[in-house]
Amino acid sequence: MKRAIILIIIAAAALFQPQECLAGGRKEKPADYAGSRIRFKALIHYTEYAEEAHVQFAHQTIGFFRKLTVGNGFELDQTTSLEGYTLEEILKYDVIISANCTPHSAKERKLFEDYMENGGGWVGFHAAAYNDRTTGWPWFLEFIGGGVFKCNNWPPQPVLVRTESRRHPVTKNLPREFVIPASEYYQWSPEPRQNKDIEVLLTLSDRNYPIGLKDIVYGGDWPLVWTNRNYRMIYLNMGHGDEEYIDATQQLLLINALRWIVSRSPEGNPFND
Ligand code: ZN
Repeated sequence: MKRAIILIIIAAAALFQPQECLAGGRKEKPADYAGSRIRFKALIHYTEYAEEAHVQFAHQTIGFFRKLTVGNGFELDQTTSLEGYTLEEILKYDVIISANCTPHSAKERKLFEDYMENGGGWVGFHAAAYNDRTTGWPWFLEFIGGGVFKCNNWPPQPVLVRTESRRHPVTKNLPREFVIPASEYYQWSPEPRQNKDIEVLLTLSDRNYPIGLKDIVYGGDWPLVWTNRNYRMIYLNMGHGDEEYIDATQQLLLINALRWIVSRSPEGNPFND
């Protein structure tokens, strides 16, 4: 008798199991956290041979993005060299996340160029865009917007930043102005904003000036996040030290950046079901 009652309860529960969630009168698909669909593939490119603060950031970047793969939403690999990849292999990644690392050898540089020219995606942090007059990579200079390293603030410190437009998918849910965690920022010459292909998304507020205690910067246009419209790329100036992931707003910015790059995949937006 007891068993029969339990069976009736189970059957009734199954009958009333909601098949769809309703949110605001709109039919939503049920959440499927344990679904096995891999939406995209990402590769973190980093180096162990850099200044300590840059390596610290790289390790934390691996941890941060690894945590975002919970539920197998995307596949994340990591490498300290692009040398071993063929173009076909590297194009399987929807995005390369460069954590303070840039291709050095001629082979790596050629592979990266071919990857980007064939629809590859790039999220580059801090020293990933560092270049000066000795770099000798004209393609990369054009890719990054034409600016070479001009100066930096020192020591690393928090700064007030300004979003350029909240119509862009990367900045749409960010405050107009907010303070980001301590970092070293590079200023560039010529300023990337002067390039018609560059869209600046986040700028260091000029209310920070003068900025620095040792190396002091007194002014200038100082874009922090931008994209080159000719590529599926975004550059973020932050990436120095172990405080970059302590702030929710900055974390949101980084997730937005990743999502935007991946959503423009040549294979189609993997977030659209
Ligand atoms: Zn740095």
